[in-house]
Amino acid sequence: MTSAREAAARRDELSANLQHVRERIRFACRAAGRLPEDVTLIVVTKFFPASDVEALCQLGVTDIGENRDQEASVKIAALSSEVRQRLHVHFIGQLQSNKAASLASYVDTVHSIDRVKLVRALDRAATAAGRDIGALVQVSLSGDSPGRGRGGVLPDGVAELAHSVAAAQHLTLRGVMAVAPLGVDPAKAFAQLATVAHGVRADHPAATWVSAGMSADLEAAVANGATHLRVGSAILGSRPLFG
Ligand SMILES: *Cc1c(COP(=O)(O)O)cnc(C)c1O
Repeated sequence: MTSAREAAARRDELSANLQHVRERIRFACRAAGRLPEDVTLIVVTKFFPASDVEALCQLGVTDIGENRDQEASVKIAALSSEVRQRLHVHFIGQLQSNKAASLASYVDTVHSIDRVKLVRALDRAATAAGRDIGALVQVSLSGDSPGRGRGGVLPDGVAELAHSVAAAQHLTLRGVMAVAPLGVDPAKAFAQLATVAHGVRADHPAATWVSAGMSADLEAAVANGATHLRVGSAILGSRPLFG
C-alpha cells in the first residue's frame, strides 16, 4: 500500500517535473515564434502505474501515451470513470494487427500506423467497437537502421499509406509521427519529417498533426513544427532498464 504521504510526495514530484517541461515548451515556442497553445503535450506513462495517471490528470494533463496494449488496457481499466472521461489516450508503440480489437476499446488515437494490413485491422476493430479512432502514419527517417529502427514506413511510402487511412471508414487521418533515429541530429530528422508532413497535408488538408519530440529533443521538434510532443522520463522519471 502506498501511504498518503508517499502519494503526496509523488504528486509534488510530478507537479514540479510537469512545470519544468511546460516551461521548456513555452521557451521553445517563443524561440520558434509559435504559440504554446498550438503544441499538445502527451505524457508517456508507460511503465508507470494508474495512480500516476490519476495524479497527472489532477495536475491538468489531458493526453497520455502508452506503447504496449497488455499494460495499457489494464491501466486504463483501473482509472476512475471521471479521469477516464477527461483523458485522450494515444497509442505510440509498435503494433500487431491481432491487438487491434483490444486497442479499439480504449484508444483515441494510434500514432504508429506503418502498414496497410494494420489500417484494415484497426478499421475493422473500430467498426466493431462502434468508435472512430484517430490515426497517424509513422515515418522512418533517414538514419533509421533496419531492424534497430522503431518502425515506420519510408518517406516514399507515406502517401499511399495516408490514402488508405483516409479511405478507412472509422479511422480519421490526423497526420504523421516519427522518432528521431539514434545518432542523428534530431533537428535534421524533424526537418525531414516536416517536409513529409507538408506532403501529406497537400493531399489531406485536415491531417495537421506532427507527432515528434521526446524528453531529450522536444526543443528541436517544436522548432520544426511539431504539434504533439510525447514526453515520458522528463516527467515521470527514468524507466526500469529491463522495460
Ligand atoms: C517512450 C516513448 C516516448 C517518450 O520517451 P522519453 O524519452 O521518456 O520522453 C516517446 N515516443 C515513443 C514512441 C516512445 O516509445
